[in-house]
Amino acid sequence: MTQFGRPVPFAAWGRIERGAYPMARPRFAGDLPGLFSAKERPGHVLGVGLGRSYGDSCLNNGGGLIAMDGLDRLIEIDKPGLVLRAQAGLSIGKALEALTQRGLTLPVLPGTRFATLGGAVANDVHGKNHALAGTFGRWVRRIGLVRSDGRTLSLAPGDAEGLFAATIGGLGLTGLIAWVEVGLNALDSDDVEIEDIPFETLADYYALMADHAGKAHRVAWIDCTHPGRGIFTHGTPARDEPGARHKTPPGPRFSVPFDGPGFLLNRFSLSLFNKLYRSLKARDGLRRMHYARFHFPLDSIGGWNRLYGGRGFRQYQCAVPKAVAREAVMEILNAVKKAGDGAFLAVLKEFGPLESPGLLSFPLEGSTLALDFRNRGQKTLALLETLDRIVLNAGGRIYPAKDGRVSAQTFQEMYPQWRALEALRDPAIRSDFWARATGMAR
Ligand SMILES: Cc1cc2nc3c(=O)[nH]c(=O)nc-3n(C[C@H](O)[C@H](O)[C@H](O)COP(=O)(O)OP(=O)(O)OC[C@H]3O[C@@H](n4cnc5c(N)ncnc54)[C@H](O)[C@@H]3O)c2cc1C
Repeated sequence: MTQFGRPVPFAAWGRIERGAYPMARPRFAGDLPGLFSAKERPGHVLGVGLGRSYGDSCLNNGGGLIAMDGLDRLIEIDKPGLVLRAQAGLSIGKALEALTQRGLTLPVLPGTRFATLGGAVANDVHGKNHALAGTFGRWVRRIGLVRSDGRTLSLAPGDAEGLFAATIGGLGLTGLIAWVEVGLNALDSDDVEIEDIPFETLADYYALMADHAGKAHRVAWIDCTHPGRGIFTHGTPARDEPGARHKTPPGPRFSVPFDGPGFLLNRFSLSLFNKLYRSLKARDGLRRMHYARFHFPLDSIGGWNRLYGGRGFRQYQCAVPKAVAREAVMEILNAVKKAGDGAFLAVLKEFGPLESPGLLSFPLEGSTLALDFRNRGQKTLALLETLDRIVLNAGGRIYPAKDGRVSAQTFQEMYPQWRALEALRDPAIRSDFWARATGMAR
């Protein structure tokens, strides 16, 4: 029988929000209901995956965490039916290892293989192929959900209570996700055929996006020292002869053994990094790459989040509607440049019109920009508030999975549907993000 133990350190990926929490790590789905009724339950609890959310959506001060990564069993791969059923703690990377050997893949992949299926549901994650595939939640057929009232539910789209929609993008607040059933795509090769194309202006970026609208994956890296300049990359699953050898996914090229000195990340190193990155990446023509290198480039450096030093970093990801996207993205990039320090990593993608099934899902049709900033305390917070205003004026919103500081007022303006999720929240569950963003008393 699993129990809550002594407080264990747990940090979000940005390493600013962190703490020590009484933690339970169940190994069997049958243990989940008992965790709600356990005598030693530390008040409110929260199910978490591998902590790849950047801010406080995966933290719970004053309460306990239920680490779901022990529930990582593959239950069934139905190849003809193109369906995977697995426990929610299975990572995307482990799922792909099993699937690609059988010529199958998950249709939507976030930028890290270290997210769990439960985390992918709870944040309704997206990939570089949103225009063609939508979000992860669009592919979810059923969810096993354990509620604190003792019910273990098998949820399908359109359930009477609305719990399926509330759980997709529901930030883990509707219950413990025990298992997930998700649709699959067939795969011919472990490789992706890609091309990098440098561009000088945002107008060029949008033209490249339009010219390559039929490509499965489209993404751009933006040079924050020259707003509008960057490299556009498109990728298409490669085709191999039937029976071609399956390639094991490459592991990290190296790992960061200790915290980097944050002061090394300044405007000079930023400019140098951007020049270097541009010259290294800008290669001519089509080339092939293993899917893991293409979809999860940052996983090539183990513990890369330590490069930002002990003070950590913040990622700001927003989505702005198509009609005003160009102006809003340019305004954001100019505001970042004006603020001085710049963003070390800036990624721009497009969300298509396919609607997310989740009540609180982040994507909306338009552009999505993700920016990584080293933590300069108040200066960073002030810049992100400026960006919030630009995003709000444009009718956009920020991604809760990346946030650790948005005000309740701003969040509620961006997500007016939050009350519907609050009505379906499991009363025994809360997170630091939700307490702050809804103004909930601790
Ligand atoms: C390098 C990198 C690249 C990324 N790229 C992308 C991207 O391209 N697209 C994108 O959408 N996201 C991206 N992300 C964000 C990441 O995919 C999400 O934050 C994802 O939810 C992390 O999954 P996790 O298992 O680590 O969950 P955690 O971060 O541990 O938790 C995330 C949320 O899920 C809930 N949760 C997790 N498991 C369960 C469960 N079993 N039951 C109930 N609730 C649960 C938690 O309560 C929390 O609210 C990226 C993150 C990193 C570090």
